[in-house]
Amino acid sequence: MKATSQISPSNIKFDEKYGPLVNGEIVEAHNGYIDAINAATGEVLTKIGRGGEVDVDRAVKAARGAYLNWANTSIEERSALLNKVADVLDENQERLKMIECLDTGRALHEFDADYHLAIYQFRYFAGAILTHYEGESRPVENGYLMTKKEPLGVCAQIIPWNVPMIMTAFKLAPALAAGNTIVMKPAEDACLSVIEFGKLLAEILPKGVVNMVPGYGTEAGQALIDHPDIDKLAFTGSVNVGRMVGKTAGERILPVTLELGGKSPHIIFPDVDIDSAVENATFGYTLFNGQSCILGTRLIVHDDIYDEFVEKLIERAKQVKIGPPTERSTRVASIINEKQGKRVLNYFEIAKEEGAKILYGGNRVTVPGHEHGYFIEPTIIEAEAHMRIAQEEIFGPAATVTRWSDVDEVIHMANDVEYGLAAGIMTEDLENALVVANKIEAGSVWINSYFNFQSGAPFGGFKNSGVGREYSKEALDAYSQSKTIVAAYKLPPPGTFL
Ligand code: NDP
Repeated sequence: MKATSQISPSNIKFDEKYGPLVNGEIVEAHNGYIDAINAATGEVLTKIGRGGEVDVDRAVKAARGAYLNWANTSIEERSALLNKVADVLDENQERLKMIECLDTGRALHEFDADYHLAIYQFRYFAGAILTHYEGESRPVENGYLMTKKEPLGVCAQIIPWNVPMIMTAFKLAPALAAGNTIVMKPAEDACLSVIEFGKLLAEILPKGVVNMVPGYGTEAGQALIDHPDIDKLAFTGSVNVGRMVGKTAGERILPVTLELGGKSPHIIFPDVDIDSAVENATFGYTLFNGQSCILGTRLIVHDDIYDEFVEKLIERAKQVKIGPPTERSTRVASIINEKQGKRVLNYFEIAKEEGAKILYGGNRVTVPGHEHGYFIEPTIIEAEAHMRIAQEEIFGPAATVTRWSDVDEVIHMANDVEYGLAAGIMTEDLENALVVANKIEAGSVWINSYFNFQSGAPFGGFKNSGVGREYSKEALDAYSQSKTIVAAYKLPPPGTFL
């Protein structure tokens, strides 16, 4: 992982405009362009295409045209190309990180981890496809049976704005490895690094294998999921839009992968070192400015240490540096846009109305030169587990704190939520940790280290957090279908049927 960025914002030169990427080229957007805004300063960085039906149709046709050739490349060839993609992403990462920092308003230092994950997604699937179960063959009576994996075809992939390059890699790498072609719709608020990466992909992959259509979700996104020539839908974002994508998949009988919201419990046992637990908990709710479905935003703390833990958690929150996204020492920076910023602040009002107590934070702060941005203090809210503030996804740097004293009670509290994406447990007693981990309804459980992503570990949600798994070999199955061929040596002789 590269530790520091040598690129300053003034080194970044954007293209005058970013239309859709179709058949290996940036083309004019049929419906014109919209401004791409620096989330923290409000500066217009450049323009992005306002994708619509015409652009989506062109992109799907390009993906369809490229499909058979790509599906018929050998796994060795696809593996080599995916490794090349990883190399090129590695070589260009400092520039892309800065672009993403300006586009999203997130703190620059966080992108080291994002790009490390993204680069290794391509390397992981470059390797995984070589060892993937490709099928079996065995003799049967009077013949032979063969099973094989085939790609699905043209995949529609819709990604959100919070971690653009991680999302791009999570979606593209397994789909490409399995032999599919793609039309991706990046989020209107954060698509510049994705399309810049798309331009690099166009120099490596055959034309039409990866296509991208920027624009609004309700226009470009909707046109993509409604397009009649799509073979698979993959979506990451809110539960509401996810439900609609799932409904379309159901109506059209399309395979679908959904990665939706989260409201993850982080359970703290009384035997922990409190300072270390506070550090891990703070990391777990402030990362990405709190704008991630996997964060540990429901801190459930044992009664015996609750008061001391909460006091130290508040002290730690006060030390978190809020500042310009492009400064490497900044830990909390700007929320993606005004709508999301206001949504987060409104949740603090809801919390007060329902009787929760804001113990620290709860305010927007001004960062000089970045008055446009929504910089929100790390916020600690004392709440009961059933309250909305402890049940709904806030998507800001905020955590609720709630007491527990009985293990069955804490398991119930942890599970009593519509989501099931991730969970954390902090304890020195591995038996406690594993007993609880086995009973938690979540796709990932991290013990003593929140957000401990490991290459190849299945990632996805229980309950309303989604359908399917990414990041692991399971994703190859989600982008393939099995075929069985049974060959008899000879036709049955006449009279067999009667
Ligand atoms: P959305 O679900 O609206 O956006 C996610 C993606 O879906 C974006 O690319 C968006 O496009 C696209 N989209 C929106 N509407 C449609 C549609 N009708 N058809 C097809 N695609 C569509 O999330 P928001 O950005 O509005 O965020 C709202 C909340 O969702 C957040 O506060 C958070 O709680 C949750 N969320 C969860 C994420 C996760 O990782 N699970 C990520 C982002 C949000 P565009 O943005 O360009 O309009």
